[in-house]
Amino acid sequence: MDFSLNDEQKMMIETVRRFIAEELKPLEEEIENQGFLDPSKAQAIHEKSKALGLYAMNMPVELGGGGLSNLDRILCEEQFGHTTDILIRRAFGNVYEPLLHCRGVQVERWLKPAVQGARTCAITITEAGAGSDAAGIKTHAKQTDGGWVLNGSKQFISDGEWSDFFLVSAKTGEKEISMFMVDKGLPGFTIGKNQQMMGLRGTPHLELFFDNVHLEPIALLGEQGQGFKLAMGALNVVRLAQVGARALGKATHVLEMMTGYVNDRKQFGQRIGDFQMVQQMLADSVIEVNATRWMIYHAAWMLDQGADAREQISMVKVYAAETLGRVVDRAVQVFGGMGFCKELSIERYYRDARVYRIFDGTSEIHRGIIAKSTMKKGASLFDVHR
Ligand SMILES: Cc1cc2nc3c(=O)[nH]c(=O)nc-3n(C[C@H](O)[C@H](O)[C@H](O)COP(=O)(O)OP(=O)(O)OC[C@H]3O[C@@H](n4cnc5c(N)ncnc54)[C@H](O)[C@@H]3O)c2cc1C
Repeated sequence: MDFSLNDEQKMMIETVRRFIAEELKPLEEEIENQGFLDPSKAQAIHEKSKALGLYAMNMPVELGGGGLSNLDRILCEEQFGHTTDILIRRAFGNVYEPLLHCRGVQVERWLKPAVQGARTCAITITEAGAGSDAAGIKTHAKQTDGGWVLNGSKQFISDGEWSDFFLVSAKTGEKEISMFMVDKGLPGFTIGKNQQMMGLRGTPHLELFFDNVHLEPIALLGEQGQGFKLAMGALNVVRLAQVGARALGKATHVLEMMTGYVNDRKQFGQRIGDFQMVQQMLADSVIEVNATRWMIYHAAWMLDQGADAREQISMVKVYAAETLGRVVDRAVQVFGGMGFCKELSIERYYRDARVYRIFDGTSEIHRGIIAKSTMKKGASLFDVHR
């Protein structure tokens, strides 16, 4: 077993880290205060990041992406976690893996522009009546001579405002779900309200409505009836990278702030880090953050070996999200009044952390998967040497 990173990996991490510190961090406060990212600033960071080869790093090189392995991607995503959701999206792209199922003319129309950053794409599964039960959607597409007619609605769609097209899951039969690429602006496709959230300021979360939207036959992504599989396959990697690794990055960032503070802040004539109760909060955070890190790297390594890492990724989803929650909660406590005060970013991290236990499968859903798989396959399911 070799736990070391090679020189290329170290250089890649350093490049991402520097880009975030120099180009993205200075924009965070403005976004938090005004609630949106200025489009001209979004364009500027997008262009700078692209010039450095940092856009769509998860996508194949031949399409214009970075061609990173899962492990290398995770190393970058961990760094992405040091900044905010909307800045990650604009600078580094959120190009979803199901798009790789594009064939023929779909490649030029949807896949390549997404990878090259010319068009932005959002993924839409959730509906008012179907969240955890993603197969319980009501949105449906009926096949006609000229293609498909789409009806239904979606909610909580991240980045919907900036997106040019949407991956939409829809029923194409009683028990059949397919995935469609739906361009913004098609007749019958309307955008509802921006659903205000507790955190993630600057990222819009939209309602979408489809009222007899006519889709061309090529709007169907992959095979008819494969939509659920495509969506779940995509979410598997998303959970590891965009949820797990980013949560780890955030927890690491907060831990760094906490460490600085316990060394600097003095009460009763001593550093607060000299009080054992404060030390416990710091030590528990260090232990949990590092356990999360190795859990994530291991799951990414498994994917790179071609192994099925579904249960490991469920474990990551729960543990990384909950570690982040515990670490930011302790950080608020360690910072005292300043932890609760908007003058520091700790309170923002606290609000932003909460949703990690909810989106991309709640902690309860993933605990259910882990328990059921363990009961079926045995506890050795998680042994490295199995
Ligand atoms: C900020 C944000 C961004 C989002 N972005 C997107 C997006 O871009 N695209 C998209 O499609 N969706 C998106 N979502 C939706 C998100 O994935 C869902 O909110 C999530 O899957 C949970 O669904 P729900 O909100 O309907 O909760 P519900 O499914 O109604 O769950 C409510 C509660 O019941 C529990 N529960 C439900 N079923 C079970 C069960 N079988 N066993 C035990 N407990 C259970 C849950 O764990 C939860 O505690 C986003 C949500 C948020 C908040």
